[in-house]
Amino acid sequence: MQLADQFDRKINYLRVSVTDRCDLRCVYCMKENMTFLPKKEILSFEEIGRLCDNFIDLGINKIRLTGGEPLVRKDILKLIKLLNSKKKYTCLNEVTLTTNGTLLKIYAKDLKENGINRINVSLDTIDENKYNQITRFGNLNNVMSGINEAKKNNIKIKINVVAIKNFNEKELYSIIEWANQIKVNLTFIEIMPMDDTDTERHLQFLPLSKVYKELNSKYNFYKIDKNTGGPSVYYRSDSLSIDIGFITPITNNFCSSCNRVRITSTGKLFMCLGQNNYVDFRKILRNDY
Ligand code: SAM
Ligand code: SF4
Repeated sequence: MQLADQFDRKINYLRVSVTDRCDLRCVYCMKENMTFLPKKEILSFEEIGRLCDNFIDLGINKIRLTGGEPLVRKDILKLIKLLNSKKKYTCLNEVTLTTNGTLLKIYAKDLKENGINRINVSLDTIDENKYNQITRFGNLNNVMSGINEAKKNNIKIKINVVAIKNFNEKELYSIIEWANQIKVNLTFIEIMPMDDTDTERHLQFLPLSKVYKELNSKYNFYKIDKNTGGPSVYYRSDSLSIDIGFITPITNNFCSSCNRVRITSTGKLFMCLGQNNYVDFRKILRNDY
């Protein structure tokens, strides 16, 4: 059976947030003084496993773990191992994660051993001071050594860069050159308005159409027919050996080709980031009506 929505879009991709906690406080994502949820409100691994089983029965073949920061969740490798074991006897063919990379140096080897072959690492700048500023206190060296360690362990990396006005718009060219040098693909993401970040959104919004135009004058991009199961549109350039993706939720939405749903760390199913309707699976899992 294949899960589909009311517009007959086939849903085969599930994003699962495993925690609301994070070891960084990126200014566009979280407030500086965060109050995190009590642990009992967060789904246990057993509950996440049961939910995933049901979604896999409905045709989900790709699961991405996210957060908060997925690698700060205690014993995360146990969950990764559990989910990867389902690949043997179901239609599930990939378990992956999106991480800020701060703990990758510690986890890369175990991630690989437990079935993770591909990850997304979020990194908006390669300048130490700016990194510290955008994450409010992060240390760029941790991420860089994490990326090295993941590469050493043959984990394929894609770097996600949120394009931010007056912050990294002049640095995007250097980020492309750096990614090209270390041979990792890159995706630029348009910033989306989020509540409760203590930052004025209009100061940050940078349309990717503008970014594309500027970068294109340098790289002469051509579009490629690459589908990684996500919303990115990919380009190549004769002067680069990597693919460059653009994700444009605001200026050029990709709703018609959406293939994903997401579950929050508390078990709420959201069909769309832009909607407030949800189904509370924790209530169902815990028989808590
Ligand atoms: N902590 C992990 C990380 O940073 O990769 C996973 C969770 S984070 C919420 C997932 C992705 O969402 C990151 O690439 C991050 O840059 C992006 N993100 C967070 N807030 C955003 C916003 N307001 N607009 C666009 N992307 C955002
Ligand atoms: Fe943490 Fe990721 Fe949000 Fe940054 S974007 S604060 S790393 S969850």
